[in-house]
Amino acid sequence: MNKKINNPLLIRDELPLFSQIEPIHISPAIDLILEENRKKILQIENFSEELLWENFIEPLQQCDEKLSRAWSQVNHLNAVVNSHNLRDEYNKNFLKITNYYSEISQNEIIYKKFKDLKQSSVYKSFNDAKKKVVDDELLGFELGGVDLNTSDKEEFKKIKEELSSLTSKFEENLLDATNNFHLHITDPIKLNGLPQDIIAMVKNNAQQKKLDGWLFTLDFPCYIPTLQYADDRELRKEMYHAYATKASEIGDPLLDNSQNINNILILKTKLAKMLNYSDYASMSLKTKMAKASDDVTKFLYDLALKAKPFAKIDMLDLLKEASKAGLNNIEAWDVSYFSEKIKQQKFNFSDQEIRNYFPKEKVLMGLFNIVEKIYSIYITPKKADVWDSLVDFYEIRDEKNNLLGQFYLDLYARKNKRGGAWMDEAISKYKFAKESSLPVAYLTCNFTPPINNTSSTFTHDEVITLFHEFGHGLHHLLTEIDEYSVSGIKGVEWDAVELPSQFMENFCWEWSVIHNMTEHVTTKQAMPKLLFDKLYLSKNFQSGMQTLRQVEFALFDMILHSTYDSSSNDVLGTLDEIRNKISVIKPPAWNRFPHSFSHIFAGGYAAGYYSYKWAEVLSADAYSLFEENGVISPLIGKTFRQEILARGGSRPALDSFIAFRGREPTIDSLLKNSGLS
Ligand SMILES: [Zn+2]
Repeated sequence: MNKKINNPLLIRDELPLFSQIEPIHISPAIDLILEENRKKILQIENFSEELLWENFIEPLQQCDEKLSRAWSQVNHLNAVVNSHNLRDEYNKNFLKITNYYSEISQNEIIYKKFKDLKQSSVYKSFNDAKKKVVDDELLGFELGGVDLNTSDKEEFKKIKEELSSLTSKFEENLLDATNNFHLHITDPIKLNGLPQDIIAMVKNNAQQKKLDGWLFTLDFPCYIPTLQYADDRELRKEMYHAYATKASEIGDPLLDNSQNINNILILKTKLAKMLNYSDYASMSLKTKMAKASDDVTKFLYDLALKAKPFAKIDMLDLLKEASKAGLNNIEAWDVSYFSEKIKQQKFNFSDQEIRNYFPKEKVLMGLFNIVEKIYSIYITPKKADVWDSLVDFYEIRDEKNNLLGQFYLDLYARKNKRGGAWMDEAISKYKFAKESSLPVAYLTCNFTPPINNTSSTFTHDEVITLFHEFGHGLHHLLTEIDEYSVSGIKGVEWDAVELPSQFMENFCWEWSVIHNMTEHVTTKQAMPKLLFDKLYLSKNFQSGMQTLRQVEFALFDMILHSTYDSSSNDVLGTLDEIRNKISVIKPPAWNRFPHSFSHIFAGGYAAGYYSYKWAEVLSADAYSLFEENGVISPLIGKTFRQEILARGGSRPALDSFIAFRGREPTIDSLLKNSGLS
């Protein structure tokens, strides 16, 4: 029997067949694709004809596309409709795929062919996108350790495996330490100041454990409001202490991340040195827009210098507020509490009040209107096979009615769906000799679902999130690149990939935009200008302190990964030194922030945390050209689409930026936007 006919993961229709995919389909599909791909690669290894795009690179890209398309569906379902069976199958196959990719990145025969191609006249005849594909491939091989001798290759692979288990352990310790903490309270006086819904939540926590009183946890929905609202300073301190010492030597020794941090840093440094880099940051920056760690630290220190005077004012405001409560100092556990008090006095509006003006239909219409006008595109709803009845599907067409791409919109939180918001590639654009495809995207959010068939409404933060993800989506969907591995967001440097997404956020702060995309759920009126002004005023609340905090994390990450020395091994000392230089408030000596900094120790942000601020420079500077020309400008939009969105990873991000802006980026717009100038 033909295995492909009965396996929806192997049917390459225009769109995935989500309603038919079951966990039992995963292993057979992935096994078959890997087997076919390995066969194909072996064939390519063995041929001796002249190396051309058509006979060498295209078949390799096809292998990659086939695997990615099937795996993207599995990966997506695992994230949005998780189940035990699915997770088991996911983990099992994820391992197979990881091994397959490390096998390829160390394949010397294919690597040699790429090197030969690079030297040939064929390479010289390639367009920029094709050249970039070859260059990216070569770098991938080098960073995968292809040049090492056989025993070093083995060691390199072993270190990578060890790193992946250390980083999972880091994350597990953090999760367990968070889950294990409970603070039991029986004195109702301690609850003063807390909102009713939080009190109900901690009461429910206690009841579930058959306890009297109230039970506090370190989950975000409990921890954050406790620090913001609890009048009881001791309660705030106890919670802060637990939170700030999570997974460290101060708590359960079994969940202590200290040694994991050191081992991760030692192994990362070792990987870098094996490839002849002086440190891990230098290796990590090879695939980024920033060229050297010094450039990054200089950028961050400059930003800190600009933000510090504003942070000092924020701090004075806090001290003033604290003195009203009879305190003459501010501790780390007081910051959120007094910030919240200042906020309530200064801006005087609630999230609920704002939310009533942002019903889903109006927001989507507003969003679509902006991008339709700016980019001359048309978005219309369409039917598709989806994984949940509340998922929407749309297509994008150009002025001549040509289809450009399609996207799924999964807006609401539900059980077994991963938190947060993201854009992911379902299908990427490519044109092979005998087959081509247009891009398809998943846009996923976790907003509050509609109750009893009423329309859902969004907070302003949620509207910003939607715009942000839509920006990533357009980067993927409006690509005009036919070369698979550099189309859309593929091949875009890590520290530039947030440009199109952060760019879109700016529209959420424009009165001309907001006016047209708000409608009160009962009065049907647009948001009054007065309320928008209050909202706008709150935009840069404590921007100085917040910027310093982000810069502190980014500096810590970059300096740690560029100067780590296993003999002194002073991770906390490194952080302390940075805080002494730039911070306006110093956390207590027992603060163990590094032990829960999973972005850099368990996520992909090692020597890359600065990317958020780096890309914000680009997005703010790009948006300033729209501001100069009236924000809904089809003329500027056309250039932005052509030079940035359409180009994807086919050329360096800096080249795309300069092609759009006419010059290199400057930091001025970011400072202005964040109220730091
Ligand atoms: Zn993003």
